[in-house]
Parts: sequence; C-alpha cells; structure tokens
Amino acid sequence: MIQLHDLRFEPFISEERITASIDKISEQINRDYKGKTPVFLGILNGAFMFASEIIKRFEGDCEVAFVKLGSYKGTSSTGKVDTMMGLNMSLENRHVIVIEDIVDTGNTLAAIDGILKSKDVADYKTVTLFFKPGAYQKEYNVEYIGMEIPNDFIVGYGLDYNGLGRNLSQVYKLKEQ
Ligand code: 5GP
Ligand code: MG
Repeated sequence: MIQLHDLRFEPFISEERITASIDKISEQINRDYKGKTPVFLGILNGAFMFASEIIKRFEGDCEVAFVKLGSYKGTSSTGKVDTMMGLNMSLENRHVIVIEDIVDTGNTLAAIDGILKSKDVADYKTVTLFFKPGAYQKEYNVEYIGMEIPNDFIVGYGLDYNGLGRNLSQVYKLKEQ
C-alpha cells in the first residue's frame, strides 16, 4: 500500500505484466512498420515511460516527437483537453504512431485526431498501454492496446495523482478510502 497526497493506493498491475504486454505490442508494431520510418508521437506527461519502452524496441529507423496535453484534475477528467506544448515538426506524408499511457473517455484522442487531420499525415495509428472500455465514449480506433482495465483510477508507470506517482515502476489503483 502507498499514500500520495491524501489518498491511498494498492498494488494492481506488476512490472512483469506491463513488460510482457509491451513486448507483445512491440512485436506487432515491428511487423506492421517494417521498412517504414514512422514518427512516434508521445503524449506527455503520462506516456513518457511507456513511450521510451516502445521506442527502444523498434527495430528500424524512426523519429520521435512529443506533445503535451492535459485533461485530468485530481482523479477525474475535466472533459476539456488543453494543449500545453504543441508540435514543432512537419508530419506531412508521415506514418505517425501516437503513444498514449491510457485511453479513458477518449477526449484526448479526439484532440489528437484534430491536430493530425490538420497536418496532412499519411496515416496514424494509436498505441496505448491501458484502455478503459467502460469509460470510452468515442469511435476512434485504438489499434494497439496493452491491457484493458476496469474504471478504476490508477497511478504509476508514468501516471500521476496531482503530480505524484509517475516514477513508480508498477501500477497501483485507488483504494476504497
Ligand atoms: P481521456 O482524454 O481519454 O479521458 O483521458 C486520457 C488522459 O487522462 C490520459 O492520457 C491520462 O493522462 C489521464 N487519465 C485517464 N485515466 C487515468 C487514470 O486512471 N489515472 C491517471 N493517473 N490518469 C488518467
Ligand atoms: Mg496521457
């Protein structure tokens, strides 16, 4: 059990399980992008840890970019996605792989879709470590999913609660207080 600010969290997903699902996704990405030079587009802050693991496992040439979006306050979505840091490279005619830590309502994916539609990309696919099917309200395809989880609030492996918990190497979920 751990405490972050005022809330307590219990162990939920081990580092071994996370690593196993990253290995599996990476095999698929390596197969699908063989011979291409994709641009990995990481969504900060949450995806930084997952992004580095996915990118390290890519076997061909690739480029890396990041944008910083935010929609969560405390333990829930505000419904509004703010861009804190935009894109500073051209993505015209590029194969983009969006890297998300977790897809929840889908509002962030909607914002990314808007950004990429205006950039004339060749195509884009989305990879996420975690997906909450019970919270998802959009139709965007999420091509690579590490694991589906229930509607719990989680921290660790890049994910935070009001700034804390990103450094944890396994994932914890909010405990009934
Ligand atoms: P969405 O826009 O799909 O509602 O949510 C996406 C973003 O909200 C994620 O990239 C993540 O930053 C944040 N988020 C969603 N669910 C959780 C959660 O369970 N824990 C934490 N720490 N952040 C979450
Ligand atoms: Mg995120």
